[in-house]
Amino acid sequence: MTFYARIAAASLILAAMGAAACSPEPEKREATSTPPAALSHPDIHAFRIGQIQAVALKDGEMAFPATNREMSPWSDTAEVSALLTASGQADGQIHLSIQPLLVRDGERVVLIDTGAGGQMGTEGKLLASLRAAGVEPGQVTDVLISHAHGDHVGGLAGKDGALTFPNAVVRMSAAEWEFAKAGAAEAGAAPLLAAITPRVQTFAPGAQVTPSIKAVPLAGHTPGHSGYEIVSGTERLLYIGDAMHSSLVSVQRPELVNGWDSDGAPGVTTRQGLLNRGASESLRVYGVHFPFPGVGRFQRRDDGFVWVPES
Ligand SMILES: [Zn+2]
Repeated sequence: MTFYARIAAASLILAAMGAAACSPEPEKREATSTPPAALSHPDIHAFRIGQIQAVALKDGEMAFPATNREMSPWSDTAEVSALLTASGQADGQIHLSIQPLLVRDGERVVLIDTGAGGQMGTEGKLLASLRAAGVEPGQVTDVLISHAHGDHVGGLAGKDGALTFPNAVVRMSAAEWEFAKAGAAEAGAAPLLAAITPRVQTFAPGAQVTPSIKAVPLAGHTPGHSGYEIVSGTERLLYIGDAMHSSLVSVQRPELVNGWDSDGAPGVTTRQGLLNRGASESLRVYGVHFPFPGVGRFQRRDDGFVWVPES
């Protein structure tokens, strides 16, 4: 089963579950030059990386029962359930948020990943969140894709096939683009692929993709999966994509193979490397699926690690 088919199956399951709780549409605001840091809205979180302004943009939520072996990516459901219980999460569900990241890199308006586009049982809040941050879709200059799963590329085009960010270059690693093209037809994603093809520019692993953002290859999840490191002066933030999904399971049990990874063993190595580097450097990390807004650090605790969100 290809990644597209796997995610498509997951999306159907999640949609059938009605996993996403309904929430009111965020209030729309007119585009404004007001810095995002001055804005207040429940679905956005503005913060700085040195001189750079960044905004976490809520797109939606996914949830699935940890004990369901068809839905959970971790086969040892008893162990995962025990971890959730020990962490005070009584509902037995794995909760994953989706929050693409907006980065104002000089004149560039950069969006990292595009959410699920309202698929996979999610609310599809991204555009409302983007506008709440004072940005219209046409102002986005660069879309950086971590990988070609539906909850990251689903927001690239609308249901009518029109590009959501018509003026943006869509950047992803060359390996990921090849992977996307190979799996698109089977996944029913040919229209999306056709829509973005003229806008796609690929890069090599580790490339500098904008003046302040460098691609960071994070092996295991998909063939060209890429994180992004944003640097300003002495400050930095690492967007980890789907190298980790759960701020509990992926962080506290990184050695558990994730069934959503296309290559399990490198996925484990990547997680362990991120945790060691993150804790050693007190690296600021952005988890696109961690609890909103997804900004925090890894810390060593006992023989392992924990996620410590920024307050
Ligand atoms: Zn994902």
